Amino acid sequence: MPNRPVFRRVAIVGLGLIGGSLALAIREHGLAGTVVGTDRRDDETLWARDHGVIDEMAFSAADAVKEADLVVVAVPVRATRDVLEAVRPALSDHAVLTDVGSTKGSFIQAVQAVFGEWPERVIPGHPIAGSEKSGIRAAHGDLFDRHKIILTPPDSVAPEALDQLTRLWEGCGARVLTMSVDRHDEVLAATSHLPHLIAFSLVDTLAGEDDNLDIFRYAAGGFRDFTRIAASDPIMWHDIFLSNREAVLNMIDHFTADLGQLRQAIESQDGERLLQVFSRARAAREHFSKMLSGQAYVNTEQQNQVTFRLQPGGAAQGDIRVPGDKSMSHRSIMLGALAEGTTEVTGFLEGEDSLATLQAFRDMGVTIEGPDQGFVRIHGVGLHGLQPPHGPLYLGNSGTAMRLFAGLLAGQRFDTELTGDASLSRRPMNRVADPLRQMGAVIETGEGGKPPLRLRGGQTLTGFHYDMPVASAQVKSCLLLAGLYANGDTSVAEPAPTRDHTERMLNGFGYPVTRDGNTARLSGGGRLTGGPIDVPSDISSAAFFLVAASVAPGADLRLQHVGINPTRTGVITILREMGADITLENEREIGGEPVADLRVRYAPLRGIRIPEDQVPLAIDEFPVLFIAAACAEGTTLLTGAEELRVKESDRIQVMADGLAAIGVDSTVTDDGIEIPGGQALRGGTVDSHGDHRVAMAFAVASLRAEGEITITDCANVATSFPGFDRLAQEVGIRLTVEACE
Ligand code: NAP
Repeated sequence: MPNRPVFRRVAIVGLGLIGGSLALAIREHGLAGTVVGTDRRDDETLWARDHGVIDEMAFSAADAVKEADLVVVAVPVRATRDVLEAVRPALSDHAVLTDVGSTKGSFIQAVQAVFGEWPERVIPGHPIAGSEKSGIRAAHGDLFDRHKIILTPPDSVAPEALDQLTRLWEGCGARVLTMSVDRHDEVLAATSHLPHLIAFSLVDTLAGEDDNLDIFRYAAGGFRDFTRIAASDPIMWHDIFLSNREAVLNMIDHFTADLGQLRQAIESQDGERLLQVFSRARAAREHFSKMLSGQAYVNTEQQNQVTFRLQPGGAAQGDIRVPGDKSMSHRSIMLGALAEGTTEVTGFLEGEDSLATLQAFRDMGVTIEGPDQGFVRIHGVGLHGLQPPHGPLYLGNSGTAMRLFAGLLAGQRFDTELTGDASLSRRPMNRVADPLRQMGAVIETGEGGKPPLRLRGGQTLTGFHYDMPVASAQVKSCLLLAGLYANGDTSVAEPAPTRDHTERMLNGFGYPVTRDGNTARLSGGGRLTGGPIDVPSDISSAAFFLVAASVAPGADLRLQHVGINPTRTGVITILREMGADITLENEREIGGEPVADLRVRYAPLRGIRIPEDQVPLAIDEFPVLFIAAACAEGTTLLTGAEELRVKESDRIQVMADGLAAIGVDSTVTDDGIEIPGGQALRGGTVDSHGDHRVAMAFAVASLRAEGEITITDCANVATSFPGFDRLAQEVGIRLTVEACE
């Protein structure tokens, strides 16, 4: 749809690919009253007029710009100064002058040489769009659509001129960014000019080889992709390199030094070094688009609608292993990076916390291989071996990672900045920043204690005792990690039990943490030692199968290698109290954490009043415990679980609605629910509201249902419990998954 004209008369000098495309875009979108164009070659100007690229033609730059309120210089950068000299006498006072050149320092030099200053209406520009083709015949009106255009206005820019030019480019479909001239030239030297130089140079080197035909004949697709840009216009590129000389030379020196190090590593068979560079580069390649667009590491916005369909009368039989524990996977990366030696992790679960942490350590120079099908190898650098990152550490959506890193980085010798996606950036960090400051950390937060967190390096931290006002495993872990770098003892007392994975795993890595009642304590200045970690299965995932086998008549199921950390086993305690038959076999310790195989056999369950002290220890398991309650004889009463009402969904209400949908009445209270057992589970359609635990809980309910259960909005299950559908089918739950666009 045509826009309102932004300029009355636009003059374009240089009708090639970029000038011609801009003329077409302006005309197609109705952004100017008239577009007048001129080129060094009259036949090109005529062609442009005859083919509707411009409205009017002029046969000199001076003629073209007369009475124009926007002048666009779209010639090769080395021709800019001549064009400016030619147009200056004819330029009207109110005209905005811009260009499209690929280097900006050279344009400003030409402007200052011709005008004696940098006028407030001269706004350099550079569209990040183009192709290897040049000339008017390659021009097209949608070249800039959804591309970026960088403007580098002077400090004294006339605001209305900047606004008009911005609207013109936006009208052409582009996104406008502004930056300084120097920054532009540095960024482009790194991201565009150096890669072009390498491509030109590589193809030239190979072309000079004796058997070059063979080399090119056998070159695979990757080579063609990599060298595509060597087909670009040599004259334009010769201009660019000479015009952006300083910034390009810096980049070449930087790159040559790094290439030299790789050469050295190959010569001296330093595989470790090669691995470090390659894995860091691969990770950066995979993650940079995510980081740039501010997304979470794990994409929870699934494209597909997923529905679970369950037939009644399945079974729960067999011997299975559910995915690894998220908290332990996360800590294995964190402690493995700080340990001396190599840590090999198996059973690793790729959650948001783990992936964000993995990337942050890579940014601080730690070599990490994987994750590859649950395997990660971390080449630890020791407590004092982290390198300063080149920029902010981007932690996606992981609040846990941000709080733990705040502690870990407060005592480093270098500065760091921690950032996250939009939702993490709204979460307050004062709960960790305040006590860290008491230890001597220097931390700046954004407004209201929100991210970004800026931590000043080189501070001396002093151990202290902290009484947590609110029980929080994240705050406790943060302070203990800071305590690794502090003088003396750091101790944290918790008002109620919280998860203790950090303490246990520190012990597992050989760093002593003691517990005295409700207080965890460590002394600074020790060391961690890497080793193998077979991450135990997540008890929260195992819980679905514990309930499945408890309610399915005749069931006998073994769950291998499950983490039974006492701060997480509320589900076992509650189910046993309801009469479940769960035995722990082969108890052992992995990385400081207790682990066992769990054998579960069917047993009739009875309703109970759930002990309130067990509620925090089973908070994630309640959706499936409600199914156990529905299958029990007698009433089950849950109180003291307000937290469940503010989870991914109002879990209690969503579960009550789901139960009602399959024929089970319950009563929701402010802090819990009352579920009378012994009612028939008739079947029906349950909306999980995208809550993965609700979806899986109702899949388990099918074992006692009389009719089919359909569960909608189940896409998130794949993120929290990869392979749930396959394992459910394996044990005999009659589940089919339907996905549609
Ligand atoms: P192009 O297709 O070769 O167009 C440049 C046009 O300017 C040619 O028609 C050229 O004529 C004409 N010209 C040269 N000197 C002139 C003068 N003194 N007066 C009037 N016209 C003159 O090049 P382009 O790709 O459009 O590039 C133009 C500018 O955009 C360059 O500064 C380049 O750095 C920048 N840029 C290019 C790309 C890209 O991918 N191509 C992307 C972003 C920015 P002749 O053909 O007779 O020389």
